[in-house]
Amino acid sequence: MNFKDFEAKNIIKYNFNLATACTMKTGGCAKYAFFPTTKEEMAEVILFLKNEKIKCKILGNGSNVIFPDSGYSGAVVLTSGLKELEISENTDSDTVKFYVGAGYSLTSLALKMCKLGFAGLEFAYGIPASVGGAVFMNAGAYGGEMGFVIDSVEYLDESNSVCTLTNDKDKGYFTYRHSFFTDHPEYVILGATLKLCKDESVNPLEIAEKNMQARKDKQPLEYPSCGSAFKRPQGYFAGALIEQAGLKGKGIGGAFVSEKHAGFVVNKGGATTSDVVNLLEYVKNVVFERSGVTLEPEINVIED
Ligand SMILES: Cc1cc2nc3c(=O)[nH]c(=O)nc-3n(C[C@H](O)[C@H](O)[C@H](O)COP(=O)(O)OP(=O)(O)OC[C@H]3O[C@@H](n4cnc5c(N)ncnc54)[C@H](O)[C@@H]3O)c2cc1C
Repeated sequence: MNFKDFEAKNIIKYNFNLATACTMKTGGCAKYAFFPTTKEEMAEVILFLKNEKIKCKILGNGSNVIFPDSGYSGAVVLTSGLKELEISENTDSDTVKFYVGAGYSLTSLALKMCKLGFAGLEFAYGIPASVGGAVFMNAGAYGGEMGFVIDSVEYLDESNSVCTLTNDKDKGYFTYRHSFFTDHPEYVILGATLKLCKDESVNPLEIAEKNMQARKDKQPLEYPSCGSAFKRPQGYFAGALIEQAGLKGKGIGGAFVSEKHAGFVVNKGGATTSDVVNLLEYVKNVVFERSGVTLEPEINVIED
């Protein structure tokens, strides 16, 4: 394969504006962007980039990632084309196990499964993630997380072989905002097999809608952001520490600590990635001075 082959397949763009693909709406251009539509194409793209020694970053829905304002001199590979969904078992049964592609919208999936009456993904309704990004980050909320519903994950390893990680709770593959894949950022998640159950005592759709309402009430969804800017430090809430440090509304350039939810850094217009990074650093320092607690950013800050 060469650039011309990818052009012929219409799965490559040059000088791709990353701000359009990231929910913070910041960042410069990526030299190359690839849009594989099948797992086989994904493997071809990754192999090509390895052979050409072009560095690459996998991009799901861009809801937890910011790129440099000066751009990214390698390739971003978007998973949005990997949308396979196979619900093979009879949905009348009490459990369902199904494969879902990395590019599938987590919120759409959660809503679909809740409507079918399956519990387990209620927490995910409203998280603007791709399934792959949610697996990578072990996304979670309202007492749920991806690790609770993952049966196995299909991925490409460093030699481009298709591998399966079977979720073994004892091995700690999925812990708070950490996964086997955050330890192996060179791997490419192709899709995951999830396992959900019916539970007559709960109405998953009702819970999901309640969670969504809580998001609308508490989160500054009117502004671009990456959700919670910092991980929850053990024994504390990042938002509360930031608020107690007097930082609600603090801004650098176009990036602000949200007035509505101090755990969010929002782009109020014209923010750059540098503004966001400088604000994260400032908040981290002030919170440490005031409370002695070290905040760790949850946002993936990509360097070129
Ligand atoms: C309004 C808002 C609310 C949010 N609420 C929550 C919440 O409640 N809980 C929560 O946990 N998060 C939340 N987030 C953060 C974010 O949605 C999650 O971290 C999510 O898991 C990121 O998924 P993504 O597809 O957008 O990943 P991206 O941002 O595209 O990527 C994140 C990281 O995952 C890697 N990655 C993505 N896909 C793959 C793949 N297929 N293979 C290998 N690596 C991959 C990327 O390289 C990057 O390092 C919120 C964000 C916003 C904007």
